[in-house]
Amino acid sequence: MARLEDFLEGVKTVAVVGHVNPDGDCVGACLGTKIYLTENYPELKVDVYLQKVKDIFGYLKYADEVLTEDPKDAACDLLILCDISAKDRIGCGAGLLSHAEKTLCLDHHLTNKGGYTWFYNYPKASSACEVIYGFMDPEKISVSCAEALYTGIVHDTGVFQYSNTSGYTMEVAGKLMDMGVDFNHIIDKTFFEKTYAQRRILGKVMESAGLHLDGRVISGVVTLADKKTYAIGSGDTEGIVSELRSTRGVEAAIFLYQLGSNEFKISLRSQDIVDVSAICAEFGGGGHVRAAGCNMKGTAEEIIDTLVNRISIQLEGNI
Ligand code: 5GP
Ligand code: MN
Repeated sequence: MARLEDFLEGVKTVAVVGHVNPDGDCVGACLGTKIYLTENYPELKVDVYLQKVKDIFGYLKYADEVLTEDPKDAACDLLILCDISAKDRIGCGAGLLSHAEKTLCLDHHLTNKGGYTWFYNYPKASSACEVIYGFMDPEKISVSCAEALYTGIVHDTGVFQYSNTSGYTMEVAGKLMDMGVDFNHIIDKTFFEKTYAQRRILGKVMESAGLHLDGRVISGVVTLADKKTYAIGSGDTEGIVSELRSTRGVEAAIFLYQLGSNEFKISLRSQDIVDVSAICAEFGGGGHVRAAGCNMKGTAEEIIDTLVNRISIQLEGNI
């Protein structure tokens, strides 16, 4: 198995980038990589470029040093891409892609097509953090680095609940726990705790959720008007689609978040059967078999109809 140090020959400057709307896995993977490289190789200059990191992740080392503006001098010796399923999903620092001497992509998205100097993609891995742990020498992982990686695993597995969780995931998480991470705080404060506004928008979506295909599919929508009424942004609706999926009898959940008059960000989740990454890929998106996303144009009703139709085709093939 390769190690991060194998990619450092002749490297003086490293840039680390993640995906748009960085979630716990993305933030944990990018900061974990920076912590590991900076602490063990102080001669390296390592910069992390991300869209705004949520305040709940403020306890992670170097969270306050994340750069949120595209770099003016976009050159670097090594660009590390963490948790990025496609090149057009880089949240901040996309310009580095064409200027970096070498690129290293560490990922776990089934739909990732690669195209980097080095490409390591493990679609069965729970998280980018689990992948990146495998590229680190455990002896060189500090508590701060372990905290970042543990945070990512917790978020992408829904606290070891989703089907992407494996025995190896638990093994890695156990090793990180043994290094002394404050797992109780991480799980409670960053995953389960929600703001009042987040609770209210969840209630609104649940109250107006629709059932389709005899209750095998559920859909929920957040409109532009809801965003105003409940004073919320895109980060406030994370987790709603998983709540929708946890409805008895439901195989697939569709969540629409309105971006403009006729445009929505779509999140799809499935339980056991439907390959939602294939559906999202058809509409220019991607992700994992049981969790994927894309952007679609049309009214909410039209989009839900289209997606229910794609899901029903897959379900029919499984009867
Ligand atoms: P979410 O529904 O939470 O936004 O995303 C679920 C998964 O699908 C994540 O792993 C995310 O990276 C991926 N994903 C979401 N939207 C897109 C998209 O528009 N394109 C691609 N390639 N992947 C996406
Ligand atoms: Mn991830």
